[in-house]
Parts: sequence; structure tokens; C-alpha cells
Amino acid sequence: KKKQRGGAVLFDSDHEYQINFEAKIESALKQADLENELSVVFQPIIDVRGPQTIGFEALARWDSPQLGKISPACFIPIAERAGIVGSLTKPLLWKALAAASLWGPSLRLSFNLSAHDLNSNDSVLMLVGIIQRSGFDPKRLDLEITETAFAHDFEQVTQSVETLRRLGCGISLDDFGTGYSSLTRLHALPLTKFKIDRSFVKDLHLRPSSYKIVKSLLALSADMGLDCVIEGVETEEELAALTALGGTSVQGYLFAPPLLEHEAAKFAAEPSGA
Ligand code: C2E
Ligand code: CA
Ligand code: CA
Ligand code: CA
Repeated sequence: KKKQRGGAVLFDSDHEYQINFEAKIESALKQADLENELSVVFQPIIDVRGPQTIGFEALARWDSPQLGKISPACFIPIAERAGIVGSLTKPLLWKALAAASLWGPSLRLSFNLSAHDLNSNDSVLMLVGIIQRSGFDPKRLDLEITETAFAHDFEQVTQSVETLRRLGCGISLDDFGTGYSSLTRLHALPLTKFKIDRSFVKDLHLRPSSYKIVKSLLALSADMGLDCVIEGVETEEELAALTALGGTSVQGYLFAPPLLEHEAAKFAAEPSGA
């Protein structure tokens, strides 16, 4: 971005650049050999009271021969807008379940779903089929969804989530606190877990508003009888403030970044478990 350039020109060229960039990624995704170019890394989720590893969140990685490594924060939304995210979910879920099948029986797997994975019966049947064929116990699987997934078709998405819940899967509300859902709406969903977004965790010991939000989100999850994972913990100061508020499950660079499959297995096998 050339920030020194004038208003309208800057906007137009930035906008054009953005559209070209998206188009490039979309076309590379459509041509990609997804089975080979996509991989999955695993970030530990820790119970600080051990400390002990509870499980891992699967996070997508894409290494494109044309474009190099692209972040999921970039390519997942583009795949969603292009309506092709289902073709990514398939190999990603399959790979994540294959890796997790080799872990000890107490470890859980979290997997991120998009709105498109939940907005038709066919896409849910695809998920159910993959989970069943993998042999992985659905009771050890947490599916992460964001509030934005419900923005489009609340009825259909709720039905899909209920189907997955009946199969035994846990349902985690990801990026909790950043969406606009009313509590009544949330209450209608068969949720098992909240994940508090990193934006409230960053420097919460220095930011009274963040501190209060985390405090009330933890209280709400306790009231609802749900587990709560706190995301993006980077410093000892943040951890101390979170544990003082009663938080127990955390995820973040302070403990570990997302790890390669063989590193994750080793991490979980360490004597302390974290
Ligand atoms: P998310 O689900 O909220 O995942 C958490 C993101 O925070 C991950 O980024 C993770 O690497 C990063 N993170 C973890 N600990 C820390 C920390 O201590 N500090 C900071 N600053 N960041 C931390 P990542 O891997 O780049 O993924 C970005 C987003 O892409 C995810 O956000 C999720 O929305 C999406 N995504 C990733 N994999 C998948 C997937 O397989 N399917 C779908 N539908 N979405 C995915
Ligand atoms: Ca997530
Ligand atoms: Ca999140
Ligand atoms: Ca997020």
C-alpha cells in the first residue's frame, strides 16, 4: 500500500489490487491439488491446573506451488465467498482425524467449520460420513463455529448443528464475544463450549474494559454449565489475570504455537503433558 498517495486514487487502486488479489487466490484454489497442497497443524489446548494438554485445535495451512504459503485468515474467507470451502473442508477434516486417531484416548480434537459446511443437508451428510469412516470417536471431537455462521440461515444451521451434536460431537462457539448474537439465540443452540476471542485477552490486565468482558464471559459460561477456552494467551501477565478470574482452559503462544503433526504427538506425550 502506498499511503502517501491521495484519497480517491488510493482507494481505487487499493480496491482494484484487492479484487485482483482475491481473484488470483480464488483461481489458484480452484486449480489446486488440495489433497497435497493443504495440510493441518495442531495447537495445544491446555488445562492450566495440571498443566495438562486437553487436546489440539486443527488449523489449516496451504502451500501453493504458484503463490507460496497463504494464511487461512486469507484463503478461507475467499473460499467461502467463492462457495468452494466444502472442497477444502473434506481433505482438512480427513487429515485432522487421521492424525488425531494416533493420539492417546484422552486427547480431544477441535476442528473449525465454515457457514457453508452447515448450510445444507448435503454438506452435513458429508461431514458425518467423513467422521464415521475415520473411526475417530465423535465424543472426542469439538466442532468450532462462529456466530457469523448463523447470520445467513439460522434454522438450517441450527438443524445441522443438532445433527452433529446427536452424533456425539461437541459444539464450540468460536470467537465468542465478537459477534452479535442475542443470548436468546445462543440459548437455542446445543453448545458445549465457548472460546473467548484473543481480542479480549490481549493485555487484559492493563485494559479494564477487556478485563470486565472476560470476567462476564467466564461467568456466563459457568452459569450455562459450559466449558470455556481462552484463546491467544501470549504472556505470563495475561495468564495470571485469567487464572485469577477462574479461567482454566487456555490456548496461545505462551504454551505453544500450532505444531506439525509429529511435534503435536510429542508435545502431548511429555511427562507434564504441557
Ligand atoms: P481461529 O479459529 O480463531 O484460530 C486462532 C488463530 O489464532 C490461529 O490463526 C492461531 O494460529 C492463532 N493464534 C494462536 N495462538 C495465538 C497467540 O497466542 N497469539 C496470536 N496473535 N495468535 C494466536 P491461523 O492458524 O492463522 O488461523 C486463522 C483463522 O483461519 C482461524 O481463526 C479460523 O477462523 C480460520 N481457519 C483455520 N483453519 C481452518 C479450517 O480448517 N477451516 C475453517 N473453516 N477455518 C479455518
Ligand atoms: Ca477456531
Ligand atoms: Ca477463535
Ligand atoms: Ca478468529
